[in-house]
Amino acid sequence: MLHIPSAVRDFGRIFSREGYELYIVGGAVRDALLGKKVEDYDFATSATPSEVTDLFQRVIPTGLQHGTVTVLFGNHSFEVTTYRVDGSYSDHRRPDTITFTRSLEEDLARRDLTINAIALNPETGDVVDPLGGRKDLKDRVIRTVGSGDDRFREDALRMVRAVRFAATLDFTLLPDVARAISRHAPLLGQVSQERIARELEKLMQARRPSGGWRLFRETGLLAQFLPELEEDRDSPWPVFEHLLSSCDCAPSDPPQLRWAALFHDIGKPRCGATDERGLHFHGHDQVSATMAEEILLRLRFPKERIRSVAHLVRHHMFGYSPEWSDAAVRRFISRVGQEEAFLLTALRRADICGKTGSPPILPDLDELEGRIRGILHQGQPLTRKDLAINGKDLMSRIGIPPGPALGIVLEELLETILDDPERNTPETLLEIARAVYQARFHPSREERPPEEAPRDTSPGA
Ligand code: ATP
Ligand code: MG
Repeated sequence: MLHIPSAVRDFGRIFSREGYELYIVGGAVRDALLGKKVEDYDFATSATPSEVTDLFQRVIPTGLQHGTVTVLFGNHSFEVTTYRVDGSYSDHRRPDTITFTRSLEEDLARRDLTINAIALNPETGDVVDPLGGRKDLKDRVIRTVGSGDDRFREDALRMVRAVRFAATLDFTLLPDVARAISRHAPLLGQVSQERIARELEKLMQARRPSGGWRLFRETGLLAQFLPELEEDRDSPWPVFEHLLSSCDCAPSDPPQLRWAALFHDIGKPRCGATDERGLHFHGHDQVSATMAEEILLRLRFPKERIRSVAHLVRHHMFGYSPEWSDAAVRRFISRVGQEEAFLLTALRRADICGKTGSPPILPDLDELEGRIRGILHQGQPLTRKDLAINGKDLMSRIGIPPGPALGIVLEELLETILDDPERNTPETLLEIARAVYQARFHPSREERPPEEAPRDTSPGA
């Protein structure tokens, strides 16, 4: 019998004592039957939301319009949804109306995939599986509840979910389901970018996301939500498969790495050119970074994620060689950021693994990582914030006015300490700042207005 935590069993008992049914449903049952660890329990009940609310002291009406409440039970929070049947779906994403029902079978029949339509009684351990979900789990196939055409027409997001589950579970999408997706792919345009993005995030946690991305392309879904990944189709520079294998090779954590791997060369088809220097993809790092930014913005990813992915893509072409001086390594860290420096080496490994198909042995990259760690460990100054003096000091001690001059002098000081960290003392930096300011801005002439070039102001000129 499947393991059911005692709190979940106790929770079920409270419902049954009052004559209601309560079942564990959805991902928890699927994952438990697959022998995976279950963290999140979702429940379905014959009780209406107000009946559930009457049973407990702490209930949050999280999604009353769908019949969902969250019950705070001990230190758990359980989502409980009343059995329901969905009305018609005129917008291809949500039912126009929902109706509560006392029938578990009816509730299971409105779900997307057979493997997601199995119910488990937390008290008795009985499994209710009218749609054959267990067999499909055993056969490792993705099948819709009822006709794929109907299911996908009702809610077009289910197409993305079917692909997502195929990839994360490493299951086969049944050919009928794949064909139904191909027929209905254009309906995805009606689904919000946020819902698509949430599924993509889960896909990227798969052991190998490539399977999902390939299915997206084959079924025509990709053209709907990420046409940029289709641009290599008629191009002499196909990058899709390289992007996919790089993505598989990248660690799934932190999540921006896989996104950066997926996009790092996406601009190559736009940049490829052959001239007297031979074939090159000049500027593809910048173009790819801009495309990544646009794509993730469109998919409404959080700002921080977009910034991070674009940054990694933009800098992915860094060239390291053991001849680099320590100052060069410091400049690299200063330019890309401390954490990002390691993400960039991880991205480089994924990129090379994406070409060869196996995790590469790269002594140079190991060495670079070691040198970065050494520099960080010694606490060497790397950014403007680490300077022994700041902008205020420059204004008060040297009289540099606020404005661009200040920024330029600070930048010079940063260059100085990156070259030689020993010079990061207030005295030395003030001296250098004074000299730089004198040389670049001639402050002795500051009192007089700068001489202007004579201008021709004669009328009619
Ligand atoms: P995960 O482990 O990714 O959370 P899950 O199966 O729990 O997987 P949820 O999105 O949390 O996925 O949905 C919970 C359950 O609700 C699903 O198992 C499925 O039965 C049902 N469901 C979710 N989305 C849909 C949908 N768009 N159409 C029909 N049923 C759905
Ligand atoms: Mg879930």
